[in-house]
Amino acid sequence: MNCSPSVEDFGTPIVEIMGVMAKNTKKMKEKKMMCSICCKPVDVLRDPKTEEILWKYGHNAAPVNKGRCCSKCNETVVLPERVLRIN
Ligand SMILES: [Zn+2]
Repeated sequence: MNCSPSVEDFGTPIVEIMGVMAKNTKKMKEKKMMCSICCKPVDVLRDPKTEEILWKYGHNAAPVNKGRCCSKCNETVVLPERVLRIN
């Protein structure tokens, strides 16, 4: 007994489903940058008056890794790591 719905139940060819999924994934990637440390979306800095996005690329995660990171990881992981490396 298989409880999970199979592809046939939706009446949609698997190629089509995969195409939609790929599109959505691409959209999400374009929309939000993910933290390379905790894998959560990085915080977006908005203009308090206009709500316009001022900065959406997070912080540089170096020297922890080569990607970007969120404010939380920047404060709790990246900055302490930098201090450790200086000393
Ligand atoms: Zn993070």
